[in-house]
Amino acid sequence: MSNENTSIHDFDLNLICEYYSNLDRQGPGSPEVTVKALSFIEGLNQTSNIVDLGCGTGGQTMVLAQHTSGKVRGIDLFPTFIDLFNKNATKLNLQERVKGLVGSMDNLPFQDEELDLIWSEGAIYNIGFERGLREWRKYLKTNGYIAVSEASWFTEKRPSEIETFWMDAYPEIDTIPNKVQQLQNAGYIPVASFILPDNCWTEYFYEPQIQVQEDFLRAKAGNKMAEDFIANQRHETQLYYKYKAFYGYVFYIGKKV
Ligand code: SAM
Repeated sequence: MSNENTSIHDFDLNLICEYYSNLDRQGPGSPEVTVKALSFIEGLNQTSNIVDLGCGTGGQTMVLAQHTSGKVRGIDLFPTFIDLFNKNATKLNLQERVKGLVGSMDNLPFQDEELDLIWSEGAIYNIGFERGLREWRKYLKTNGYIAVSEASWFTEKRPSEIETFWMDAYPEIDTIPNKVQQLQNAGYIPVASFILPDNCWTEYFYEPQIQVQEDFLRAKAGNKMAEDFIANQRHETQLYYKYKAFYGYVFYIGKKV
């Protein structure tokens, strides 16, 4: 199998988890964008219940916590990420109100109408955008908010190479107007949507990976799966630079009605 035809779905999850444990973020984003998305959300206070689903090691969760005063819980499938998350919360002296929990976004431990804000950066794709919006809605209070970032097409038509890549990686990728319509159809007022700037991919996501990839290859010398995984990561990065006019991440913010 050539690297060009290898998909992210072909790799061992433990290997992926080990790789991403070396990074502050596991997806595109930035502190500025987290704060911008938060600026559209009203009514939060010290008693607010906030959750970050698919939080990873908590890069964006800590920013969220530093700009809010309520209780913040992060949920992720991988215990290694949650260990790092809780260490990061302690380092920032946020451990009293910020907790990481191992769990799955398709089986959440919340009561109906318990939450004021559901956050999820670059992670709702794991359950699917429409399914996540619909299933998570019941946990929100009326007038509660959801804020998620999601891969989206910027144009109606795309070059076939990038279309094929995304149809394999995440066929639910869609245009911004279609995603906004899905948000509305799932029972939310679409409050805002905005495209994440280029530096969320370059400065905050791909550039920190350059050194991590070299170290990973050195540590895993002779491990074919690891070599293929890094080749796959590099291919994905090249596709971004080649086709970034056609796709990116978009933040979608909705209010439960
Ligand atoms: N939100 C983080 C960020 O922006 O850096 C991480 C984004 S990363 C692309 C996707 C995250 O979703 C990973 O941390 C992964 O472990 C997590 N994940 C995957 N499936 C999940 C599930 N079923 N439930 C909870 N988290 C999941």
